[in-house]
Amino acid sequence: MATLEIDCPVCGEVLELSAEDRADLVVGDVIVCDSCNAEMEVTRNGEAEDFELDLLGVLTTCPNCGEEFEVTEEMLDEAPVVESADGVSVSVVDCPHCRARIELEFEDSYEE
Ligand SMILES: [Zn+2]
Ligand SMILES: [Zn+2]
Repeated sequence: MATLEIDCPVCGEVLELSAEDRADLVVGDVIVCDSCNAEMEVTRNGEAEDFELDLLGVLTTCPNCGEEFEVTEEMLDEAPVVESADGVSVSVVDCPHCRARIELEFEDSYEE
């Protein structure tokens, strides 16, 4: 049975979808990446490789207040990118609940 492998557009983790998983999915369904909690909407689900996802956002837990919130692509576009103490580039977003500044680190982001 064919398994489709999709690279998460946010963290690059490979998500495996078996034929059974795909049979359950319809356009408009949302898949969540196990590794970074990115939410992706299914925009195509045809035969074999005919499958497409649209990135919706990333669910993040605020380390300050513990509330979950969604980081959207637009928020990331607007977020200032700074270099953190260990030299990696991070995007800084505000928690909508407590306004804490949260550093988000994404590998390779949208470059590929
Ligand atoms: Zn991911
Ligand atoms: Zn917060």
